[in-house]
Amino acid sequence: MGKKENKTTRIPVGISSCLLGQPVRFDGGHKYHAYVNRRLADFFEFKPFCPEVAIGLGTPRPPIRLVKMADGIRVRGVKDPAQDVTAKLDNYGRKIARQEHGLCGYIFKSRSPSCGMERVKTYGEDGMPGKSDGIGAYARAIMQAHPNLPVEEEGRLNDPDLRDNFIERVFTWYRWQQLNRQGLTPASLVDFHSRQKLSVMAHNQAAYRRLGQLVANAGKRGFEQRIMDYEEEMMTAMRRIASRKSHTNVLQHLQGYFSRELSAGDRAEMSALINDYRTGLVPLAVPLTLMRHHLRHYPNDWALSQTYLEPYPRELMNQGTSD
Ligand code: SF4
Repeated sequence: MGKKENKTTRIPVGISSCLLGQPVRFDGGHKYHAYVNRRLADFFEFKPFCPEVAIGLGTPRPPIRLVKMADGIRVRGVKDPAQDVTAKLDNYGRKIARQEHGLCGYIFKSRSPSCGMERVKTYGEDGMPGKSDGIGAYARAIMQAHPNLPVEEEGRLNDPDLRDNFIERVFTWYRWQQLNRQGLTPASLVDFHSRQKLSVMAHNQAAYRRLGQLVANAGKRGFEQRIMDYEEEMMTAMRRIASRKSHTNVLQHLQGYFSRELSAGDRAEMSALINDYRTGLVPLAVPLTLMRHHLRHYPNDWALSQTYLEPYPRELMNQGTSD
């Protein structure tokens, strides 16, 4: 990271209250998530929301579910189909989205008719189970209001690639929001993009080129629109999981900034480590650590400014979720 975020500046992230261990589920239970509470909580300041409690359903409460109707998907009571809380959940989501919580990400509880971000079970009007292709009514409202906000579900955080991707996006969004608060100028956009370049390149080469064009025209008319286009293009690009192949390309590119300064032996060691990463023998942190080491001895301002070298705190890199 260019400027190191640390444990005292935790990033605000929204979360389904039950994932923090709050007993707000329909059955009076919770869904405490160990990785979220033991690891992420050191870096994220969680802002819990339970939409079902917030709209007055109480705990415990009769369960609700997504029902496919002729006019769209509704959230209705399982035992009492006349109970329809679609509008209340949607309104509550819009209200939270409008409020100034400064959220830089959101972790939703999966499979919930209120909080589920995707693949939520749906039912027919006759009560028969349908496809798992619904979205929780509250989560939908949040995501519609903030389409570029990094969002994820707790279950998907067990996948190392999805977890790394989400954490990287949260830190990217945080830096972007800080820049927005300071007031974006063509010069500060160019500077932000310059630091972000290799990260974007690792995620999406085509977007990397399009963003370069957007920034090259930053000083021209229509700056406001350009900022919106940049934000959308960048955050969409970062959503794509960076492959081993694309990371390898970026590492080789980065190596070019200091390899001439290295002895033949150090150069061979660096290349061998990049190859070890390419073939899956070592995690990304291994070649990156050696690169940071060499860059300290042979500084290159542009290379050192790259968020790619440390996109988020090292404590969050390559850690399991087993605890
Ligand atoms: S999934 Fe959402 S609505 Fe359900 S208990 Fe958790 S926070 Fe509340």
